[in-house]
Amino acid sequence: MEFFTLASSSSGNCAFAKSGDTAILIDAGIAAAKIEQTLAEQGERPDKIAAILLTHEHTDHIAGAARLAVRYGIPVYASPKTWSALPFAAALPPSLKREFTYDMRLGEFSFEFCKTSHDAVQPVGLVVQAEGKRLGYVTDTGTVTRGMLYALHDLDALVLEANHDRQMLMQGPYAPFLKRRVAGLSGHLANSQAAELLARLLQKRLCPVMLAHLSETNNTPQTAYQAILPVLQRLGGGAEKWLAVAPAHAPSVRWTL
Ligand SMILES: [Zn+2]
Ligand SMILES: [Zn+2]
Repeated sequence: MEFFTLASSSSGNCAFAKSGDTAILIDAGIAAAKIEQTLAEQGERPDKIAAILLTHEHTDHIAGAARLAVRYGIPVYASPKTWSALPFAAALPPSLKREFTYDMRLGEFSFEFCKTSHDAVQPVGLVVQAEGKRLGYVTDTGTVTRGMLYALHDLDALVLEANHDRQMLMQGPYAPFLKRRVAGLSGHLANSQAAELLARLLQKRLCPVMLAHLSETNNTPQTAYQAILPVLQRLGGGAEKWLAVAPAHAPSVRWTL
């Protein structure tokens, strides 16, 4: 399985995964033209995308989805209640509207879904499985849910939100209500929360980790990296090679699992 993110931050999220002839996008929260351009730069083609999977309805996850779907006839998948909140739901041809199911398969891919804790109607994280490998993808969650702990086992790679540094958030420019929202149970995962979760998940087996959905106001790639690195160092040697940070506006490293 191959994987990279095209963009990852509070201003837009989109990730690519491919197994054999089947390619998918997880979220499409940047402009369709930018997705097309980035895929081309990575040697991939938008007309080869078999599905767009949306984790929830927030703009930074869906901005380019409808345009891309219509342009290339790509089915869009989302949780059942998310469809009621997607602004383009009525405009999208019914043939392109699909709901997540627990037995859904796309080519080589199968999926497990877990609830995240976020101020959206039915947000999900997922484990993408292909070729015997399991890749976890969880962003936009204010806390670690039981479902996340249940789903995120035996991973071969994990993309995990490290949205903010608590101190930077509290001392930063956000209005008080926004600080409460981001730090709240239905907000976003702090670096320290990501560190705690990783310490728990990776005890038995270390795997490559990519920190994602970093706030450009309340975090820096360096801050997030330094918050997480000691956790991986405690779990095994050569921690640097296990840890990557997804850039906000450029493609990440490309994983081959
Ligand atoms: Zn988001
Ligand atoms: Zn969100």
